[in-house]
Amino acid sequence: MSGKNDVMVFVEQNEGRPADVSLELVCKGRELADRLRVGLSAVVCGERISGLAEKLVAHGCDEVHLAEDPRLRQYRTLPYARVVSEVIRKAQPQIVLFGASPVGRDLAPRIASELKAGLTADCTDLQIGDHSEPGGGKEYKDLLYQIRPAFGGNIIATIVCPETRPQMATVREGVMKMTPPDPKRTGKILPAKAAFRDEDFLLEILHREHKEKTVNLRAANIVVSGGAGVGSKENFKLLFDLAHAIGGVVGASRSAVDSGFIPKDYQVGQTGTTVRPKLYIACGISGAVQHRAGMQESAKIVAINTDREAPIFDVAHYGIVGDLNAVIPMLIKAYKSK
Ligand code: FAD
Repeated sequence: MSGKNDVMVFVEQNEGRPADVSLELVCKGRELADRLRVGLSAVVCGERISGLAEKLVAHGCDEVHLAEDPRLRQYRTLPYARVVSEVIRKAQPQIVLFGASPVGRDLAPRIASELKAGLTADCTDLQIGDHSEPGGGKEYKDLLYQIRPAFGGNIIATIVCPETRPQMATVREGVMKMTPPDPKRTGKILPAKAAFRDEDFLLEILHREHKEKTVNLRAANIVVSGGAGVGSKENFKLLFDLAHAIGGVVGASRSAVDSGFIPKDYQVGQTGTTVRPKLYIACGISGAVQHRAGMQESAKIVAINTDREAPIFDVAHYGIVGDLNAVIPMLIKAYKSK
């Protein structure tokens, strides 16, 4: 099933490889489309990207709008906005999702403004539900609930766009689960064209550098995270030793990053990376809501903290009340003795 009222995902790609956040959104989009009993489509721009369409179909798309043009090889705001807006105008999806990546954060507001649609940035969850205006007003069926932390993360807000279409949201990387592809799925590939204007290409890219992150937190099965309680950059060595012993990677709270103990790439949480490892060990981390937003979906959480009242114990499966300087060496010793 596909057509008007679909759920649509803008798929970001680099040299023909889809961004993880885009695949995560395709999987979430499939779930939303099934709930609404509509189709799921994707729009993707680039050069020589036809191989990507099959992958998107396998992950759940019914239709892939493919804009192939050498001028679209690298992301540039104006030509991408031109193509994606035209595809949306023609296909009329009811929902359009973007990754909250630098590209998505640049493109989505431009398209929302062009289409006079609402946009919620940085969602951490998406659901379908009804809405009635306060005081017995108008009733709306099957709206997109755009859920995100608000007011510095102290409340979780559910935002709806009852009147305008499409309903648009950007979603953070790592918060939606990627489901395995089904290579037997079939779907349609539709060439997408746009009436470019000369001014769309005023910006010329002279040189592009792609810097990989120093740590891949999202791919790790075990994350050993340190907070302000670690006390110093030197003391983070303890966490690296533990991570090394048990085959994990090191993460950190924002306080640890702000204190200069460890670079920002290691930060877990609302403004860092969202992780869901099999094991998350929080050392000297109090468990502020902004930190928990990035780790509370971990399968098993162990917390080490000197303060038995620390909120991290509310989400921990196992809690150790103690000084991390004493506990971590004991853990390493116990693990190595096995
Ligand atoms: P603290 O809150 O200072 O906690 C330190 C903990 O260490 C305490 O519980 C203490 O009991 C314990 N401790 C001290 N010494 C020891 C010891 N020797 N052994 C064991 N335990 C010890 N934070 C994030 O982490 N990630 C984010 O992405 C993020 N985004 C934010 C976005 C916004 C808009 C805002 C407003 C805040 C954000 N924060 C984020 C900050 C967040 O609110 C907290 O300030 C931060 O998470 C606290 O870090 P912490 O737990 O390391 O430090």
